[in-house]
Amino acid sequence: MSIDLDAIRDNVAELVRRAAPAQVLAVVKADAYGHGLVDSARAALAGGASWLGVAQLAEALRLREAGVTAPLLTWLFAPGADIGGAIDADIEVTVGSMWSVDAVLAAARERGAPARIQVKVDTGLGRGGILTDWPQMVARLAAAHAEGAVEVTGVWSHFAWADAPQHPTVRAQQVRFEEACEELARAGVRPPLRHLANSAATLTNPSAHFDLVRPGLAVYGLSPVPDLGDSAHFGLREAMRVTARLSLVKRAAAGQGVSYGHEYVTDRDTVLGLVPMGYADGIPRAAGGAGPVLVGGRRLTIAGRVCMDQVVLDLGPDFAGAAGDEVVVLGRAADGEPSAQDWAQAAGTINYEIVTRMSPRLPRVLL
Ligand code: PLP
Repeated sequence: MSIDLDAIRDNVAELVRRAAPAQVLAVVKADAYGHGLVDSARAALAGGASWLGVAQLAEALRLREAGVTAPLLTWLFAPGADIGGAIDADIEVTVGSMWSVDAVLAAARERGAPARIQVKVDTGLGRGGILTDWPQMVARLAAAHAEGAVEVTGVWSHFAWADAPQHPTVRAQQVRFEEACEELARAGVRPPLRHLANSAATLTNPSAHFDLVRPGLAVYGLSPVPDLGDSAHFGLREAMRVTARLSLVKRAAAGQGVSYGHEYVTDRDTVLGLVPMGYADGIPRAAGGAGPVLVGGRRLTIAGRVCMDQVVLDLGPDFAGAAGDEVVVLGRAADGEPSAQDWAQAAGTINYEIVTRMSPRLPRVLL
C-alpha cells in the first residue's frame, strides 16, 4: 500500500480554500481512515488544517506522544476514561452527555484550572450528543462557566444525511443547531467555534460551514457524495493505492471450480492468477465474484470467493504475463484504477469502510 501524503496535503488545501473564512479540522480518527494517523495528521496540517479531530482519547494521546502540538478535539469515551490525562495533554474533550460534564468538572477542580471543552448537541442524528437534556446542559455549562471551571471553546453537531444535500433533515438540523447556539448564548456561554459540516456538507453546503468544518473522507481524496461526482469532480485526489503481485499463474481446463465453494467455474480453458491478498488484508469478503482489479491495464473481477489471504483471477486464455506482474487493487479513478467506490459497490458497503479496513499488515510506503 502506498500513501501519497502530498495528496492529503493538497486535498486539505482545497478544503481550506472552499471553507474559508471557516477553519478546517481534519478528522484523522481510525488511523486516519486507514492512511496512518501521525503522517496523515502532519500532512493535513501542512495543507492548512487548523485543528485535528479523533474519536478516541487514545488516538489523541498518540498524536501528542508523536509531538503533534496542533489543537486537538476528541469526542468518544465512556465512564472511566482518563479525562484528566486528556486535559493535561491539552486535548479538547467533547461533552456529549451529562455524566461527562461532571467528569470534566471533577478533573478541572482537581487541577485548579479551567478545562477547555466543547459541547455536542444532537440536532437530529440520534447518535452522540445532548438531545432532550439540552436545557439542563445549557444551565450546567452556564454555571460551570460562571464559576470559572470550564472554558467552552466550541459547540458542535453532526448531520444524519449530509450525503443527500437536498434531504429535509439537513436544513432542519441546521436550524436546530442555530437555535441551540442561541440558547447557549442567552445563558452567557458563547463558544467561538460552532461546527456542523463533515466532508459532504463542506463541499456542497456553504451555509453549514459556521466557524469550522470537520471533513474526514475528503481529506483522503474520496468523494463523500458519489452520486454528485467522483474525487476529481470535487478537486480531490485519492491518497491510498493498493497493489499486489501475482504469486502464481497457471493453466486450467474448462469446468475448473475456483476457490472455496466453487462459486466460479471456468467456462473455457484459461489461465488463473493468484493474488496474495485476502479479507485479512482488507479485501471485503462480500466482494467475491465482483471486486475489481487491474492487471496489465485490463479490468478483471475476482473469480469466486475471497479467502483470508488470497483471491483468484481468471486472467483469460491469452494471458501472456507471469508471476510477479502487478495487480492494482485500489487506486485513482481518474487513472482508470479501481476506486474505493467501485469496491464499495461490489461489496454492498461505503467507500469509508473500504479504506478504513485495509489491514495494518499490508506493507505501507509513504510517498
Ligand atoms: N465529525 C464527526 C463527529 C465524525 O464522526 C466524522 C466521521 O464520521 C466526521 C466529522 C467526518 O465525516 P466525513 O468523513 O463524512 O467527512
